[in-house]
Amino acid sequence: MANKDVIQEILSLIPASVRLVAVSKTRTPDEIIEVYNEGIKDFGENKVQELSTKQPLLPSDIRWHQIGHLQTNKVKYIAPFVHLIHSVDSIKLLKEINTQALKNDRVIDCLLQIYIAKEETKFGLSDQEAIELIEDFNNSEMKNVRLVGVMGIATYTENEKTVRKEFKSLKQTFDQMKDLYFKNDEAFREISMGMTSDYRIAVEEGSTIVRIGTAIFGTRDYSKK
Ligand SMILES: *Cc1c(COP(=O)(O)O)cnc(C)c1O
Repeated sequence: MANKDVIQEILSLIPASVRLVAVSKTRTPDEIIEVYNEGIKDFGENKVQELSTKQPLLPSDIRWHQIGHLQTNKVKYIAPFVHLIHSVDSIKLLKEINTQALKNDRVIDCLLQIYIAKEETKFGLSDQEAIELIEDFNNSEMKNVRLVGVMGIATYTENEKTVRKEFKSLKQTFDQMKDLYFKNDEAFREISMGMTSDYRIAVEEGSTIVRIGTAIFGTRDYSKK
């Protein structure tokens, strides 16, 4: 396993201010520990079941990121420990996160997932929907969630121009939101964009968090599970 070299290479390609989240879906606790031992403390999972099973088996100083679609009825399983939820796509979900965070006496940081790809996908908000959500949020009294930025997934394509355009549009959306609603809010600062195939472009376009799985752990084998 060339984890060490690969991680060092990725870290050398992204500015120190950009956070690397190692996407550990389908990986075993042993595989995760290997990467953890290289100094990586941020790990991302896309399934609640998998995340809540692994979390108690691994070091408690790991910052766990929920990066995949989150169903309202599953928030309670990750609320005690999750560090950042990247995939908020409705006010209903945000309200449930607030409820569960309150029960755990925590404030949970969240990103709004914005739809930027050309592909049809069920998940993510349009810019307009995101703005409505922020206005609803501002008119509510949710004290146990904090909106800290946006997340997006670009089209899976070799066409660099398409990907770059999509990342640019997410950065623009972020800038508009910042300007309109979060001007004096230091916490609203994150743009989660960039995966194995496109993180270099994402960083050039202003990403603050990259989510990388395959480049760190190798190709995923879904049949193993
Ligand atoms: C799986 C996944 C990633 C990582 O993808 P790789 O191509 O393996 O780097 C990033 N973000 C999300 C939302 C994912 O589901």
